[in-house]
Amino acid sequence: MKNELGNLIVKNQKFKSLPEMFGIEDNISIIAGPCSIESYEQMETVAQTLVKNNLRFIRGGAYKPRTSPYDFQGLGIEGLKILNDIRNKYNLLAVSEIMDPRDVEALENYIDIVQIGSRNMQNFSLLKEAGQSKHPVLLKRGMMSTVDEFLFAAEYIVLNGNKNIILCERGIRTFENNTRFTLDFSCIAIIKQETSLPIIADLSHSLGRTDIVFLLAKAIKSMGTDGIMVEAHPFPEKALSDKNQQLNLEQLQKLIDILF
Ligand code: PEP
Ligand code: MN
Repeated sequence: MKNELGNLIVKNQKFKSLPEMFGIEDNISIIAGPCSIESYEQMETVAQTLVKNNLRFIRGGAYKPRTSPYDFQGLGIEGLKILNDIRNKYNLLAVSEIMDPRDVEALENYIDIVQIGSRNMQNFSLLKEAGQSKHPVLLKRGMMSTVDEFLFAAEYIVLNGNKNIILCERGIRTFENNTRFTLDFSCIAIIKQETSLPIIADLSHSLGRTDIVFLLAKAIKSMGTDGIMVEAHPFPEKALSDKNQQLNLEQLQKLIDILF
């Protein structure tokens, strides 16, 4: 094979850190926001908590990869318009998942970071398209992918011209069922040791619950992880997706206080 793992660009080149990519302060970054964008008011309430704490990243899904076709699929372009209005009003950097390669170019004016979700980590057409985006790409680990497969996916993006990548460990499938997935700390350690790519941990999709987020956040920070993604909603119990794992805004504040 021409490019064995050791020869990958992602292993051998120096990549920008998250603060370098966005010209922000050099600290652990928190990317918070609801699972799905549901309304302007919902996004604004979350944005106000972020701004109050000098946080810069807001997330929110508009195109939702749902297991059941009967579940809420996201507001689509209407959702991205809300996200765009909020990021402009509050000077935030917006992260949202794109699922269809045909949407990458069309939607990049609404967001600052293109998220590729776990279920699409090996959607090679999407990886190639994201490689041509002007925005950094947040690449989530496939829930059934090895670390090496994760790095090969990142290599597709780099090879297509985009050197701004943020990896995200979001938990993998194991036999353990106290959590929705199993957060793989080793993945973070290996990526840190073998590459210079920034890597963040998603404490919502990995855990599927909120009560142990705080303890794990401390552990994740102590490893030198570049950031934490967490879902937050003004009223999690009314959320249209992932109700059980979204922090309410008091819990989000508690998490911020623990990390800073
Ligand atoms: C998400 O971040 O909105 C999401 C669906 O996560 P994942 O792709 O990790 O399941
Ligand atoms: Mn979610």
